Amino acid sequence: MIYLVGSGPGDPGLLTLKGLRCIKEADAIVYDRLAPESLLEHAQPQTELIYVGKKPGKPTMRQEEINTLLVELGRAGRTVVRLKGGDPYVFGRGGEEALALMEAGIPFEVVPGVTSGIAAPAYAGIPVTHRGVSASVAFVTGHEDPDKDHADVDWTRIANGSDTLVLYMGVGRLREISHALVSAGREPETPVAVVRWGTVPEQRTVTGTLEDIADRVAEANLKPPAITIVGDVVALREAGLDWYERRPLFGRRVVVTRARAQVGELSEKLERLGAEVLEFPTIEIQPPEDFGPLDEAIRDLDSFSWLIFTSVNGVDALVERLAHHGLDLRAVPRDAKIAAIGPATAEKIRGVGLRVDVVPREFRAEALIEEVSGDSLVGQRILIPRARVAREILPERLREAGAEVFVPPAYESVPSSEGKDELAKGLEAGEVDCVTFTASSTVENFVLAFGAEKAARLLAGTGVACIGPITADTARGHGIRVDVEAREYTIPGLIEAVLDILAADPAKRGE
Ligand code: SAH
Repeated sequence: MIYLVGSGPGDPGLLTLKGLRCIKEADAIVYDRLAPESLLEHAQPQTELIYVGKKPGKPTMRQEEINTLLVELGRAGRTVVRLKGGDPYVFGRGGEEALALMEAGIPFEVVPGVTSGIAAPAYAGIPVTHRGVSASVAFVTGHEDPDKDHADVDWTRIANGSDTLVLYMGVGRLREISHALVSAGREPETPVAVVRWGTVPEQRTVTGTLEDIADRVAEANLKPPAITIVGDVVALREAGLDWYERRPLFGRRVVVTRARAQVGELSEKLERLGAEVLEFPTIEIQPPEDFGPLDEAIRDLDSFSWLIFTSVNGVDALVERLAHHGLDLRAVPRDAKIAAIGPATAEKIRGVGLRVDVVPREFRAEALIEEVSGDSLVGQRILIPRARVAREILPERLREAGAEVFVPPAYESVPSSEGKDELAKGLEAGEVDCVTFTASSTVENFVLAFGAEKAARLLAGTGVACIGPITADTARGHGIRVDVEAREYTIPGLIEAVLDILAADPAKRGE
């Protein structure tokens, strides 16, 4: 079975549920340039990924070769997704592929996608039809097929046949097209918008009229891929419908330095505010060198009256190790109290089905000690499954209060410097607006990746946001200037801090 799947225009969230299901089930995916690559992460690890190009300047498979490839894969009995940008049947040559499959007797299905001709205008603040303004819309190719003569598109009929015109592939010929439309009778003052890379953080929009849009686009040096919208509906963008580009962090690049397993929440929230997020996981979470102490604690789990978790990883690590021994959380004694250092850890604990007894008001080890020592800790056994190298203050203070504290290494955070050269380049070129640090260890590892001097130099030209005073002190200790500390030591607090330094300065927003 071959599924011709529309990937949507770029924002990975605009893939359909059916398209996602096909990607998950495919054993081969044939994709090209305009299909967002992040969608391939949903494929199974063994799925064969076949790139058929259409990247400018890179070898591209001819359409006939793609058709043949699809037929061959189909004959081999594979489940194939042919992933195409936008919608497969809107200037996507999906019809040709379907015909080839039909002729070869290969079963196929079509999963429509959100076409860029609707999505890019929507993200730029332009409804393609609008009551009282536009009652019709035409999708038109602005690309001159070199194999044919110029009669491909009848501009006179198109100009007068529809209120809104949406041009695909037209940036290169904008001058001729505008001219043809005006010659055919459209007003030279007709508003026009050109949206490049619609629905992704790189989105850029240039507006003008039929008379001056070619000059404006040339001035802005706007390159393909772009959608051009011609018609009075474009004025609605100007009236304030351009929600996507108005989001507070639109056009901003923010670096997230968390461990890969944890970047999720921070990255996602920053992206929702419009930022382009570069993940530089300076830490990878790995199993500890020696499971001995953790295994011993698991064997004696009954003897503990407190379990304290200082990170989401600690929760994961304990659950995984219990499973390794054929156990689950029923092994946690029912009278034991459970504490979490902060709300994310608490949520994680609840997520695995345990109740949380204590979350300190302030999200630091010191505050946790205050809350926990409300009870007398004399003689109490406390288990803290956490990273091998972590700050010692928590167990020490608990011991001072009379508790017996066990701190078995449950996982290890090891430095990682993957993607380091690329990040250095971006920082040096001034393309990064803010670097975030969510723990002292992320600072330490950043410094480790680049060396102290270079790290401070790289960060001198960008905003630096830290989750709290301890992380900030670590940064300053390495000669790194800190622009902002979160008031609340949580991910939402850090996001507020990023907004404080980036959203306040509209000078760099948008174009
Ligand atoms: N099947 C696709 C169109 C493929 S033709 C669809 O339905 O969207 C390629 C053209 O699509 C590009 O030249 C450009 O005009 C447009 N295009 C595709 N993705 C785009 C995007 N994210 N932003 C702006 N234009 C895009």
